[in-house]
Amino acid sequence: MEKLKELWAFVQADWIEHTVRLVGENTPTRENLHLQIQDFAQALHNVLDEGAYHKLDPILERWASSLTQTDLESSTSDLMRFMGILMTSAFETIKQHLKPPEALILIGGLLPCFNYAYERLAHHEIEVKTSYISNRLSQVQQRLERLDKSKSDFIAIAAHELKTPLTLVEGYTAMLREGLRQRAALSHDVTILIEGIENGAKRLRNIIEDMIDVSLIDNALLSLNLQPIWLSHLFEILDRELHTAIEERHQALKIHHFPGCTEMIFGDPERLLQAFRNILVNAIKFTPDGGKIEINGRELPGFIEVTIRDTGIGIDPNDQSLIFEKFARIGNVALHSSGKTKFKGGGPGLGLPIAKGIIEAHGGTIWVESEGYDEVRCPGSTFHVLLPKHPPLLEGRAADFLAALTPTQSLSE
Ligand code: ADP
Repeated sequence: MEKLKELWAFVQADWIEHTVRLVGENTPTRENLHLQIQDFAQALHNVLDEGAYHKLDPILERWASSLTQTDLESSTSDLMRFMGILMTSAFETIKQHLKPPEALILIGGLLPCFNYAYERLAHHEIEVKTSYISNRLSQVQQRLERLDKSKSDFIAIAAHELKTPLTLVEGYTAMLREGLRQRAALSHDVTILIEGIENGAKRLRNIIEDMIDVSLIDNALLSLNLQPIWLSHLFEILDRELHTAIEERHQALKIHHFPGCTEMIFGDPERLLQAFRNILVNAIKFTPDGGKIEINGRELPGFIEVTIRDTGIGIDPNDQSLIFEKFARIGNVALHSSGKTKFKGGGPGLGLPIAKGIIEAHGGTIWVESEGYDEVRCPGSTFHVLLPKHPPLLEGRAADFLAALTPTQSLSE
């Protein structure tokens, strides 16, 4: 075994020179390179006969951790190439300086060392690259979070700032209407003009309120006023509310009497109405005249699943998760007409994010299923809303109080 060390000692100096020449032809840090290769030669010398290859680790780790940002971002591995040169150069030097039997002995001894070095270097390099990439990822994520936060802050500030002048417009319009009425000057033409201003102001108020809701949801500040509710009751209210729009569009809204819809569950009635309203208004908007909208559902252990199906233009599978993100309106904005329930009528793209925020605040889930987007074939969309009968927020005394109101049968589920 000592023989191996002896043979290596015999070729070591030439190997170092040869390798430095091969690697460092254009390297400005030639001196440092010389030292590194010398270190490695010494390490090889130490492990050659003992087989304690792990003694090579410190130097291999040092090489892996000295990778520059460019190395880390490159898809090829300079270290593997470097190790390849070290090995080839070793074999060339051995061939030149030793007789074949001795050369064979030394190559046989060096092969497992290089094998080990390759494996460890690859391992260390992957570790260093992985930690570099995850560092970069977390930096990007932090930047995105900051961006999202400033977007959310902007929405909240803009909404509050817009509220003041809007209140002035609403106030002065009301005064104008009243003043003209008292002077008997409220002609038909003037009434139409005033209604125009009032409708515009109302739509603006809705948008501002949506912006505030989105920022509440973003900041997890949406507070729920939980009470006993009945889904069938909420759908009756919406049926009455949307009756005119449905008629105008010659559509049919069918509300099925499904298991669970008349069961008492807990939720914030105003917020749930808002969520279902947003989904239904979209169903009206994105379904051509004469289409059909159906509300159905089923009871599941601890949950009620509501489905809102329409015969509208459908949603591309690629957009199905995107539509729940704020301001993520699909399609060409310029092509959308305005109007709350007009076919493909425009909107700021806040309806579904708000519905999602409300459902999730109740501990529920919302998703959509659709074959795809096709304005001619109209494959339709089905929105699913999974609502827990007892939202997780229902805690402490409120939970005890409300649980006492719940029929035993549904509590045991
Ligand atoms: P808005 O209606 O203000 O554009 P929403 O958040 O309510 O914003 O909806 C986002 C987008 O999702 C819509 O612009 C539309 O492209 C798509 N969408 C929502 N509901 C439906 C539906 N029932 N059928 C087809 N597309 C829909």
